[in-house]
Amino acid sequence: MTILGIDLGTTNSLCAIFEKERPVLIPSPHGRFLTPSVVARLDDGQILVGDAAKELRITKPECCVSRFKRWMGTQESVQLGKQSFTAPELSSFVLRSLKSDAEKYLGHPVSKAVITVPAYFNDLQRRATRFAGELAGLEVARVINEPTAAALTYGFYDRDLRKKLMVIDLGGGTFDVTIMEVFERMLEIISSSGESMLGGEDFTDRMAANVLMKYGLQSEVVEHKHPLQFARLKQKCESAKLQLLASETVSIGLPDENGNMDPTKPSVSVHREEFAKWMEPLLGRLMRPIERALRDANLEVSQLDEVLLVGGATRMDCLRHFLTDQLQRTPLCEYNPDEVVAMGAAIQAALIEENAAVEDMVMTDVCPHTLGIEISKYLGGQFLPGYFEPVIHRNTTIPVSKEKTFETVAANQTEVLVRVFQGEGRRSADNLLLGELKVDGIPLGPAGTSFDVRFSYDPSGILEVEVVIGKTGKSRRAVIAHPETKMDTAQIDLIVRKLQQIKFYPRDLVENQFLLSYSEQLLGDLPGGLREELNGLMDVFEDSMRRGDPDYFEQAKQQLLFWLSSRGFPFDGGPSAGT
Ligand code: ADP
Ligand code: MG
Repeated sequence: MTILGIDLGTTNSLCAIFEKERPVLIPSPHGRFLTPSVVARLDDGQILVGDAAKELRITKPECCVSRFKRWMGTQESVQLGKQSFTAPELSSFVLRSLKSDAEKYLGHPVSKAVITVPAYFNDLQRRATRFAGELAGLEVARVINEPTAAALTYGFYDRDLRKKLMVIDLGGGTFDVTIMEVFERMLEIISSSGESMLGGEDFTDRMAANVLMKYGLQSEVVEHKHPLQFARLKQKCESAKLQLLASETVSIGLPDENGNMDPTKPSVSVHREEFAKWMEPLLGRLMRPIERALRDANLEVSQLDEVLLVGGATRMDCLRHFLTDQLQRTPLCEYNPDEVVAMGAAIQAALIEENAAVEDMVMTDVCPHTLGIEISKYLGGQFLPGYFEPVIHRNTTIPVSKEKTFETVAANQTEVLVRVFQGEGRRSADNLLLGELKVDGIPLGPAGTSFDVRFSYDPSGILEVEVVIGKTGKSRRAVIAHPETKMDTAQIDLIVRKLQQIKFYPRDLVENQFLLSYSEQLLGDLPGGLREELNGLMDVFEDSMRRGDPDYFEQAKQQLLFWLSSRGFPFDGGPSAGT
């Protein structure tokens, strides 16, 4: 029974399995390990995931959606054609695609997975991730923190480690800092902090805004009025950002309002130093979580033995300089920062399966946020409601179970409403409401009847709450549910049925769709003559896909591929092919 290890990223997702005593990454239909977390709904209603959808984002942004991990745990949804989808639904499409890649690789069905989440994800976001797994037909054996997964990979390969490490994970949309101690294959997470709205995509957005400013335009206006122009410019900025790793200067042209590039028009150039200057405010935001993680771990920067970098955005030159400066050491990046998390998820899967290759590894994690309930405080002769009372403090090792005793505030109070919050604020309103639990049956009597509240936090970072009334021993136990996100089985059934009706673009043909979307987005970059040529070849290729004549199809495909590579746009290594 194989358990998949899945890194469900904001930008890219990966899948790995534990095979022959080590983690192995699973290739997509395009032979790549990274599957862009992009979903497209084609005009005929078919759902397309990954590279082909990412290319479509440039020419048909209205059919595509990305970055949906950012609204995990919220009620937001997005309209794609006639249907609307929530973040767990969209994530389930990505998971489905990874699952089918794994099944193709293994030659048998799989139904279980470990899925990673940013360490700083709250309870609602974790539950939404688990729900996405279920919608994709995967039983989620464990939800684990991304930096913890990265640490597992380091711990797995470096068996003699005995160090205090800081893992810095900057992906496309989230930022996590984790401090841990590794000692003879025992990994102990000490503290974890982060920001769930900071990632590489913000660096791209900021670059796009600054480039537009150079052209005398305002980012918000362009985004709103000319989505094709904006989508193309963002694509240009994204690849320019990556190019800055190798070149000192990049030049960026302004696409027209239909998203086409005119090579005869002047472009602006951006120097690496100018880019770094633009990024300063974002870099500055990295320090707060870093300092908090250090404070919680009771450590000085100088006591860290190593700093490990994880996540694609940690490749940025300006970020490495910034961290080297601030942390007084050169951060390490021994493994591919895109891949370590998925590999760690596969190692976690091996731990769950009790695979002999990892039997000497032990790992403990912490909960990233404080959990507690709302109470009233007796101040100035009266009870004032709305205060937050912690039950489990942040960075407590999990799994953990803690109990606290509370008292009723009114005489003859027969029921209590236990409202559960997550966060660091003194007042409950400043924290995130996770859910509530009503308990009745308190015997009549004076104020001050005691009852116990027990919080149990499982290894996936998901909470269960139990309330026991002192004298009667009556208890209510529940995996708490948020009043708004609480779904009954009928509602879940409805979602499952909606998803069952969806047609997914056939896996065997997805490579052709990718080639087509790749060529389509290239059209906008080409001058008239070449554009006509490519257009003609695409028409023939598209026609051949419909006809079902294998010889005709193969010939059309080869002609298109040959044209692309002879004009300097080879399909596999194209400018927007992966990151
Ligand atoms: P996630 O885990 O959130 O899906 P990844 O770890 O895959 O994200 O990182 C994706 C982010 O990394 C993107 O914002 C991308 O622009 C950025 N990135 C990847 N390579 C580079 C590079 N060479 N320079 C700058 N940013 C990069
Ligand atoms: Mg990631």
